[in-house]
Amino acid sequence: MNIATSQHLFEKAQHFIPGGVNSPVRAFRAVGGSPVFIKSAKGPYVYDEDDNEYIELINSWGPMILGHANELIQKAVYDAIQHSFSFGAPTRREVEMAELIVSMVPSIEKVRMVNSGTEATMSAIRVARGFTGRDKIIKFEGCYHGHGDSFLIAAGSGAVTFGTPDSPGVTKGVANDTLTAPFNDLEAVQTLVNANKNDIAALILEPVVGNMGCVLPAEGFLQGLRKICDEEGIVLILDEVMTGFRLAKGGAQERFGISPDLTTLGKIIGGGMPVGAYGGRADIMNKVSPAGPVYQAGTLSGNPIAMSAGLTMLNYLNDHPEVYTQLEASGEKLVNGFKASMQKLGLNYTLNQIGSMYTLFFTDQPVTDFPSAKSSDLPLFGRYFHAMLDRGIYMGPSQFESMFLSTALEDKHLDKIIKANEESLKEILSL
Ligand code: PMP
Repeated sequence: MNIATSQHLFEKAQHFIPGGVNSPVRAFRAVGGSPVFIKSAKGPYVYDEDDNEYIELINSWGPMILGHANELIQKAVYDAIQHSFSFGAPTRREVEMAELIVSMVPSIEKVRMVNSGTEATMSAIRVARGFTGRDKIIKFEGCYHGHGDSFLIAAGSGAVTFGTPDSPGVTKGVANDTLTAPFNDLEAVQTLVNANKNDIAALILEPVVGNMGCVLPAEGFLQGLRKICDEEGIVLILDEVMTGFRLAKGGAQERFGISPDLTTLGKIIGGGMPVGAYGGRADIMNKVSPAGPVYQAGTLSGNPIAMSAGLTMLNYLNDHPEVYTQLEASGEKLVNGFKASMQKLGLNYTLNQIGSMYTLFFTDQPVTDFPSAKSSDLPLFGRYFHAMLDRGIYMGPSQFESMFLSTALEDKHLDKIIKANEESLKEILSL
């Protein structure tokens, strides 16, 4: 495959941008080689600067649930830009957006728009602290909640990919206020809570983890956390930046029947534009400025172009339940195809999947938490990644990421992915 233009751009980028990229995982460091620079995308395909075509499994890390350059969203953005790009003043669309989010996610009574997932999670723990008058939070090893200081402790995604789950630059004070527990381990949470009575403001987690690869909650885990939080007056925050509007219209919380106190959202909510949101119980959200004393603001928050894209996306998802039927069927088809190939080849790698999210882990162990995710053969994943890329499949360049399917993937694309997977496994294992 010729990626000469990408290679040239990457060389140049490294002179001017730290590591040559504006977000670490993009650099392909975990899998080796030079990242491909993307020029355009449409439906299920992305095209790089050398005009190679790939089938999309990243989908901008989740937002492109309807595939790239969806015409309805394009039109919404085009219509919106006729009226200028930003006002820094309230608009009708923000009200419509808030009303729609509240109707789609029943646990959310009030919501504040921000500009990224990171802002959403940072703001959510601030308001949880303001509401409870407590300082400490509990997070789970391998969960990623953006790059806010409090979350760069045992963090997943790029932080673990690059061996920096505990980032330099985070003060000891902040680090001391972040307690960590193993995912799916209720007992460890209870022990932490007992040892820090009346000190824990919030417990935050990805209800289905995408950031150590795709990891599902064990039966009763989410309900157990809800119970502990209720008993101890801890604010339960579900970080649905990845899972919101993806695993169901109402996110993972709808799918698993759990009602958090606060929810953080991003990705799909902006239709591909930079948007995040946090919301939940009215008594907690009423602490946010100017209704209450917890300060949080944003010059570009509720940006009219982003709101138009996001509103069009959410309205579409709200009105088309068949989107979720299709995504479930696509996920199932892919997994069945992968499993059949592995059986044929005598392989027993762990495949975690729920709806339109999946990760193939290069380990025989069930992957239920961070240590089991880390038992994967990372060099082998790197070879697999490149074998897939060579066959025109664009995947997240790290074992610790989830793939995201879109409705633009038709049967013929899924068949191509299944075939590429089988060929790639054969190639990297010399079978
Ligand atoms: N929370 C989760 C669960 C995420 O997956 C991410 C980003 N991948 C974030 C928060 C941070 O979002 P952003 O990159 O938009 O700041």
